[in-house]
Amino acid sequence: EIKNVNENYFGSYGSFGIHREMISDKVRTEAYRIAILNNPSLLNQATIMDVGCGTGILSLFAAQSGASKVISVEASLKMAAIASQIIKDNGFLYEENIKGEESNCSRVIDVVQTMVEELDKFRNIPPHSIDLLVSEWMGYCLLYESMLSSVLYARDRWLKPGGAILPDTATIFVAGFGRGGTSLPFWENVYGFNMSCIGKEVLEDAACSPIVDVVDSKDIVTESAVLQTFDLTTMKPDEMDFTSSCELTLKPSPKDGSSIICWCYGVVLWFDTGFTNRFCKETPMVLSTSPYSPRTHWSQTIFTFREPIAMTSAEAIAEDNGMVGTEQCPAERIRSRISITRSPVHRSIDISMETTGI
Ligand code: SAH
Repeated sequence: EIKNVNENYFGSYGSFGIHREMISDKVRTEAYRIAILNNPSLLNQATIMDVGCGTGILSLFAAQSGASKVISVEASLKMAAIASQIIKDNGFLYEENIKGEESNCSRVIDVVQTMVEELDKFRNIPPHSIDLLVSEWMGYCLLYESMLSSVLYARDRWLKPGGAILPDTATIFVAGFGRGGTSLPFWENVYGFNMSCIGKEVLEDAACSPIVDVVDSKDIVTESAVLQTFDLTTMKPDEMDFTSSCELTLKPSPKDGSSIICWCYGVVLWFDTGFTNRFCKETPMVLSTSPYSPRTHWSQTIFTFREPIAMTSAEAIAEDNGMVGTEQCPAERIRSRISITRSPVHRSIDISMETTGI
């Protein structure tokens, strides 16, 4: 069954639409391009492995940036063939002893069609001989369909001690959203008609499974909190399964009212990956999928509560808005315990969340 799931997974990466979507995501592609091209001390004369090269775009950046050798690994049959063609058409394909041709120092990219876990069957790469691993492995909510474990496999086997990984950090964030982040307002007024019964049903469905969509930053009602941070150079594969807690307080409201009550309808998760100054000495970068940053193809991941939670600010409580001690006393903070674990259903993740207003 896992074989089937893998076939579907790599088969899906054989469709050009996905690659167009990823390449057109400028926030994503530019972050990698800048990290690779604007850190010459990292790239120059380096031996690089691109885990999951797709069209070969990151390998091409690396070759452009002065890498001495790039091993580009791609599991999808179709994409590996396409990557070879593209890399050849651009004069970067590594070919040993091309007869009658002068050696060309830009022919540095070696494309290998295999899962990185089986690379040994095709190339004899000495252990711990790679200077830099690059990969774009992130999925929705960071870990969905994630190939992070494949990157860690390559790290443990081929990366030199102290070698670099791009990106080298990943952080998951969480924040609460208000009514505007739900579909309630939309269905309330449809050409002047009240269709809010649909809004209620949509909200009930949303409480059962997360939604990948863009959240407008104006609909975020709480401060943001870090849920989990990963250091790609040291993390163990089993750290991909974790349970973390966070506390969310209301964002300062522009209005200066003491009776301010705000309903929090759910939380939104997103991630950043860092190309930090640990390796990117000249030009560190952050690739952010935050609602406060320009949108990316990852959007955000939205988790709707079964019941919204009434919140107020600590200042409002201090001023005694008349609700303290009553049954409707709004919460000053939301405490959330979130677990993300790899699912027995291959490449999927299970997320559970316990949330209380306190
Ligand atoms: N690097 C490209 C493509 C990123 S998408 C870019 O930035 O545009 C991830 C790619 O990794 C897909 O093409 C997928 O087929 C490949 N992939 C996923 N897991 C892999 C594995 N274990 N070994 C090799 N390739 C893998």
